This record gives sequence, C-alpha cells and structure tokens, in this order.
Amino acid sequence: MSYFNHMSDNKGTKETCEKCRKEFAWKVYSDNYPGGKDTEFIDCPYCGARNASVKTSGSVITLKI
Ligand SMILES: [Zn+2]
Repeated sequence: MSYFNHMSDNKGTKETCEKCRKEFAWKVYSDNYPGGKDTEFIDCPYCGARNASVKTSGSVITLKI
C-alpha cells in the first residue's frame, strides 16, 4: 500500500539538468494499471525545465539529490 515500497523496487536514474546544471534523480513507479502507455515528462525539480520524456504506463517522479 506504500508508494515508497514501489519506489525502492525501481532503479533511479541520475540526470543533470540541461538548464540549471543541477543533479537530480528520476524514476518510474507503476502499479500496473491496465491500458496503454503515455508519455511522461521528466522535469527538473529545481527549475522545472523539461529534460526528457519516457513512455510508461506508470508515473515519473523526480527527486532533488
Ligand atoms: Zn534545472
């Protein structure tokens, strides 16, 4: 029932923001919702700049590190 359990199951990915050059981590968590994949955007948690996108049926979270 905890999102944190799901999050710890997934590998995080480190990224450096193209705009502010700060490092952040992002990861996908999924509860295996039925249905198609959507594009989720990976936005910098510091400045909000869009860095990448990923196709997933889950959700993307970003973390300041
Ligand atoms: Zn940024």
